Amino acid sequence: MRARDCKIVATMGPASDPPERLAMLVEAGVNCFRLNFSHGAREDHARRFAAIREVERRLGKPIGVFADLQGPKIRVGMIAGGEIKLGYGQMVTLEASPEQGEGDVIRLPHPELVAALEAGDILKLDDGKLQLTVIERGARQVKARVDFGGVLKSQKGVNVPTRRIPISALTDKDKLDLAYALELGVDYIALSFVQHPDDIREARALVGDRAGIIAKIEKPSALELIDEIVELADAVMVARGDLGVELPPEQVPIAQRKIIRAARAAGRPVIVATHMLESMVEAATPTRAEASDVATAVYQGADAVMLSAESAVGRHPQSAVAIMDRIIRAVEADSEYWAGLPRDMTPPQATTADAIALSARHITDVLDCAAVVAYTATGSTALRVARERPRCGVVGLTPVTETARRLTLVWGVKSMVSPDVSNVEEMVASAEEAVRALGVVETGDRVVVIAGIPFGRAGKTNTIRIFRVE
Ligand code: PEP
Repeated sequence: MRARDCKIVATMGPASDPPERLAMLVEAGVNCFRLNFSHGAREDHARRFAAIREVERRLGKPIGVFADLQGPKIRVGMIAGGEIKLGYGQMVTLEASPEQGEGDVIRLPHPELVAALEAGDILKLDDGKLQLTVIERGARQVKARVDFGGVLKSQKGVNVPTRRIPISALTDKDKLDLAYALELGVDYIALSFVQHPDDIREARALVGDRAGIIAKIEKPSALELIDEIVELADAVMVARGDLGVELPPEQVPIAQRKIIRAARAAGRPVIVATHMLESMVEAATPTRAEASDVATAVYQGADAVMLSAESAVGRHPQSAVAIMDRIIRAVEADSEYWAGLPRDMTPPQATTADAIALSARHITDVLDCAAVVAYTATGSTALRVARERPRCGVVGLTPVTETARRLTLVWGVKSMVSPDVSNVEEMVASAEEAVRALGVVETGDRVVVIAGIPFGRAGKTNTIRIFRVE
């Protein structure tokens, strides 16, 4: 009866747009969708958002949606003739200017970047295909040497792994996109190029409690401050696309483990993203190495795995979701998974709610239970139970639709909107109705319920009840 625990996120795009495709993706296993504000017009996101809500209404199950902001993606300026050939050992000049670059002068329309560079800094251009090292800085220019050459085209991306650039994680475009996404009613905002905990604080001041904040970890400076960043965020993403440009390849798996551990220790949901089934943009089946990559994230205890181009522009979006679903289920059916899954990662605080969530898991270790039902207004009680990784499923019952949607990112939680109850009898009856409707129990199964009495007040979890389904 156990459902899949690790969740699936799919990025929306032209490949997920055809009518009925969206419902098929949800039926194949998508729990939460990503609207990628790096591509497409705002109206495209609004149209996709409305389509997701319509499918949610039709299928009668909560679906999460997050807006992924582009962030301060740094790019080289225009280059005379459209491109410049850079050879190994060649010296170039980097200059802060909106003008077009000429000869061996590369212009960057980012004065903060050029001002921050020092001798020894590394610049990766065009997703790391070319690399420069800064040799010397002047007042308005820096001289750099080409380490890996090639053809550099106008407006290609620049990554500077060696330095925190003094820019906000929110550009003017991001602020407009953020306001737009909040107006639509997305459940989370994903922040790109987070460098420092202050980036999360700045976003929180704008977002308030209207959406959760997902910190995308893609900069080495964020890795150094990972515990503080994770603590301030509501969820975390291992954004391996840009992380893979900023870090040497051998460091990416180590960073992935570190981010997952930090998120699990703080009890925050963590998404592993990018290139998971990349070959399925074209091919009908994944490579075995890709299957192994998805499985590794699941074994490591990730809350969710994500599809990017595979579902946004790929030729087989539905198969990619179905295969991800199969890989996750296969891992979760492996006894080694449970043996290796870290379960006591989040030290409980001395609060009644933490003590109750931990006790619920201990009960499921001792008694054979089919589900833990958590009455949860903000989602935090369901999250607390899920972070203990109980062997039976977690059901989050909430009167708040937005809470049910946010829980779609959380390992092991099936969420359901259900009206408040007013006494213990109603609490048990409503929990029984929910677990039956969700298909996670059979007659005779034992279920643990946790809730707060008096009912209907957030943050008051103080009660455990065990019942049998009749
Ligand atoms: C990433 O870099 O891995 C990522 C998820 O961000 P984006 O797709 O916006 O580059």
